[in-house]
Amino acid sequence: MAAEIRRYEAERVANDSTYWMFFELLWRDYFHFWVRRWQGRAFKASGVLGRTPCGAQDREAFLRWCQGSTGEPFIDASMRELSATGQLSNRARQNVASWLARSEGIDWRWGAAWFESQLIDFDVGPNWGNWQYVAGVGNDPRNRIFDVRAQAQRYDEDGAYRARWGAATGA
Ligand SMILES: Cc1cc2nc3c(=O)[nH]c(=O)nc-3n(C[C@H](O)[C@H](O)[C@H](O)COP(=O)(O)OP(=O)(O)OC[C@H]3O[C@@H](n4cnc5c(N)ncnc54)[C@H](O)[C@@H]3O)c2cc1C
Repeated sequence: MAAEIRRYEAERVANDSTYWMFFELLWRDYFHFWVRRWQGRAFKASGVLGRTPCGAQDREAFLRWCQGSTGEPFIDASMRELSATGQLSNRARQNVASWLARSEGIDWRWGAAWFESQLIDFDVGPNWGNWQYVAGVGNDPRNRIFDVRAQAQRYDEDGAYRARWGAATGA
């Protein structure tokens, strides 16, 4: 892929799109190296940082998240899209993961396992590594929590995405 991008840039044009395509592939490689480096710790609740995560074992809240019936429209739309198509944008993945692991405080590994069963692009390192980072136990210097309402306002301003998946915007 990288060689094709370089060839295209040489023959046609180098622009923001070719830059980002190459850049994102570096993340893919990074997480492949990451899982080789950490092995079993990729799947531990405390992650590679050895932190104690929120780890509530709330099955009902977890099922609501899986089914897209949390009552939070941006989260519900995303989870419904995932169930219906097996796909989800990186933005939506980060938001639903943050919601489950940080806002609801549920064991992040449940979410990672659900993604594993649903995603058509499931890949061990990228999935479990990204989940760890969002849960605050992986490689991220900024221990962040997504403000899903602000994210919805920013990335789905007119509510079209939420409406597409039958999740009311409340707007
Ligand atoms: C919680 C969570 C779970 C994820 N699980 C997976 C997974 O199981 N499999 C998977 O391939 N990606 C996973 N990702 C990463 C990312 O969301 C997807 O790779 C991305 O949505 C693919 O979209 P695209 O094909 O349009 O990629 P583009 O944005 O066009 O990027 C090109 C390629 O770069 C790679 N890439 C882009 N972003 C990332 C990233 N953050 N981490 C690793 N590789 C990346 C992918 O191979 C992608 O196809 C996950 C992200 C999060 C936050």
